[in-house]
Amino acid sequence: MNIHEYQAKALLRSYGAPVSDGRVVLKAEEAKTAAGEMDGPLWVVKAQIHAGGRGKGHFKEAQAGEKGGVRLAKSVAEAAEMAKQMLGRTLVTHQTGPAGKQVNRIYIEDGSDIARELYLALLVDRQSSRISFVASTEGGMDIEEVAANTPEKIVSFSVDPASGLSDFHGRRVAFALGLTGGQVKQCVGLIKILYKAFVEKDMEMLEINPLIVTPDGNLKCLDAKMSFDGNAMYRHADIASLRDETEEDPKELAASKFDLNYIALDGEIGCMVNGAGLAMATMDIIKLYGAEPANFLDVGGGATKEKVTEAFKIITSDPNVKGILVNIFGGIMRCDVIAEGVISAVKEVGLKVPLVVRLEGTNVEEGKAIINNSGLAVIAAENLKDGAQKIVKAVKG
Ligand code: GDP
Ligand code: MG
Repeated sequence: MNIHEYQAKALLRSYGAPVSDGRVVLKAEEAKTAAGEMDGPLWVVKAQIHAGGRGKGHFKEAQAGEKGGVRLAKSVAEAAEMAKQMLGRTLVTHQTGPAGKQVNRIYIEDGSDIARELYLALLVDRQSSRISFVASTEGGMDIEEVAANTPEKIVSFSVDPASGLSDFHGRRVAFALGLTGGQVKQCVGLIKILYKAFVEKDMEMLEINPLIVTPDGNLKCLDAKMSFDGNAMYRHADIASLRDETEEDPKELAASKFDLNYIALDGEIGCMVNGAGLAMATMDIIKLYGAEPANFLDVGGGATKEKVTEAFKIITSDPNVKGILVNIFGGIMRCDVIAEGVISAVKEVGLKVPLVVRLEGTNVEEGKAIINNSGLAVIAAENLKDGAQKIVKAVKG
């Protein structure tokens, strides 16, 4: 689960990390009062969307020379005007994709003077099964670009959970960032704070880009991107309440309400599969025969008819879907339950695209009978290969 920059900064502030004063604004009328609560002489007006690269992004239907989603203002009036200009518009960044994201919230922040822009991140490194630090002197820019062009400028190491974090880790980050003197001590303190917040709140990723050094030599978190382990949200009601559903793919949101593992993709073949491994194999074989999956969907082991119906509705609501492949291996899941779910969903939402069904395992004969007796134009498949070939042929001709 992701949260907005202003929410991440509030959390960092509560842990004692250095962040600027700021106000979130939901309506243009509130902008002037919000900006007026800070003294200036510099204000930063920042579009709040769940994507990075806002500064270098652009708004749809932008005026000639119009700036991106992070702008500097020299007065309260200018800050308010900028907030008004950005609210409700669609911001496109390299992370949003070409469709962009609508800006519904603006963060107005007390502007900082910058001497250096650094990069710092904490993440769960799946390879080492540890929390890792990533630090670079090349802050403020795309870390992917730094990684591609000058990987030697990125320092990364993990923390052994058995011995935990110590000052040594903070110093290691400080030296990687080229900090000296009192800044090293500040960095050691900051690393402790970030690590504590990361562990306590079950974060998956915490990225501070840029972490700045001010001209008077202080560290400050100028941007903050946080994501949390969705499976841990049951024990963090405070974090769960920060969820902004308008930032999520509506299909993924609907799926999460029914406890379906669904991820929207760009292809043309909708997939309904039980089990994550089978779902991945299904996606692979669709690609092998020359098409692209429109989604990853694992309906789970103990799916009910209602769950299957919902899953089917979500798939068919995607205008990119030109064909559907249902691939079920009935182990715990019974093939007849899947068949009933599919039939009831088709009756409810109609079937406008070819549907190939491959069933195997528990109650497979009952499942096939339900489909065959339904009178619907379902294409039966003998096995996974056959199913994939049939759906690709039905879609691509
Ligand atoms: P992002 O583009 O989505 O990563 O948004 P950031 O919050 O990282 O802002 C982009 C860039 O705007 C930063 O790298 C800074 O160069 C600049 N910026 C952000 N806040 C300030 C500020 O308080 N003062 C100044 N001078 N520049 C800022
Ligand atoms: Mg940034």
